[in-house]
Amino acid sequence: MLSEIFYRVCLGCSLPTEDGSPICSDCLESQETYPYACESCGYPSSVSAKVCGKCTSKKHRDKIFIAYKYRGAIKSLIRDLKFNFRITGHNAVNKIISTEMIGQYDLITDVPSHFTRRFRRFSHPATVIAKYIAINTKSEYKKVLKRSKRTEYQFKLRKSQRISNVFGAFSLCADVRGLKILLVDDIITTGSTIEECSRVLKKSGASKVDVFAMTGGRS
Ligand SMILES: [Zn+2]
Ligand SMILES: [Zn+2]
Repeated sequence: MLSEIFYRVCLGCSLPTEDGSPICSDCLESQETYPYACESCGYPSSVSAKVCGKCTSKKHRDKIFIAYKYRGAIKSLIRDLKFNFRITGHNAVNKIISTEMIGQYDLITDVPSHFTRRFRRFSHPATVIAKYIAINTKSEYKKVLKRSKRTEYQFKLRKSQRISNVFGAFSLCADVRGLKILLVDDIITTGSTIEECSRVLKKSGASKVDVFAMTGGRS
């Protein structure tokens, strides 16, 4: 299912990599992360604040974890995952994602790609990442959400338009009642898509929806 692809040189510094990993250990160490996190849900931030905006208002998701900022070598890796057929494998995200801090879930699922976009023969980074996490945490990977409405690319829209753009955009294609779910995406910018997916899952009876994203687009 997952083919192994080995990188010869690092996506960050172009020097040979030790072990076929897409990003060398030096570049990975210098990869920007978020210095602060919401004390309630873990939402990352560049500025110190005890509780994030989502936690002071009503939210559908529970905990959230974003591994890196969408910068540098990680940005190249996400692009590689999306546009390069050759990178579909385990090795591309091995070492980049630490699955140790990810707990046990009944299901690992991903934010579905746009249905018209699926016809293009690109892989979906969120799926690659979700399957990797499922294997490494010995949890089940399953598609539970599907796109039910055509949406604009979120990055083309202003913040206020993003929420209405995704509202009603997802529907359920599996039973999630009583399940503890980890929802996975490759990049989170405003969080509107994640919030809408979480709303659908919770409304359908999921007992918990935590979120994992490889990168965050906010500074
Ligand atoms: Zn490097
Ligand atoms: Zn929060």
